[in-house]
Amino acid sequence: MECPICKSEKCIKMSAIELYESLMELFFKYQDPESDITFKKYPTVGEIGACEKTGKKIWYCPYCKKPFPENYENNKVVIKCPHCDKTLCIPVSNRTFC
Ligand SMILES: [Zn+2]
Ligand SMILES: [Zn+2]
Repeated sequence: MECPICKSEKCIKMSAIELYESLMELFFKYQDPESDITFKKYPTVGEIGACEKTGKKIWYCPYCKKPFPENYENNKVVIKCPHCDKTLCIPVSNRTFC
């Protein structure tokens, strides 16, 4: 899969995508769209590698299955996929609060 930043084939780990896909299968099985808990309501974005040229993390959308550069904003726990506009939670390591 091509890096969304530098277009190299080396930045993205296919094994990370496979692992993430299997986690998401479980998530969607138990997803609760009515939940007040953000992390039950929306899937967490996948961290599937880091760009070798820029050091930016590469995230992955479970809906459209496309990679995109990390794009979290301070104090926000959710983002929108730049491809399909679905709401996604950001990974735990990037959260500044819960
Ligand atoms: Zn790259
Ligand atoms: Zn998407």
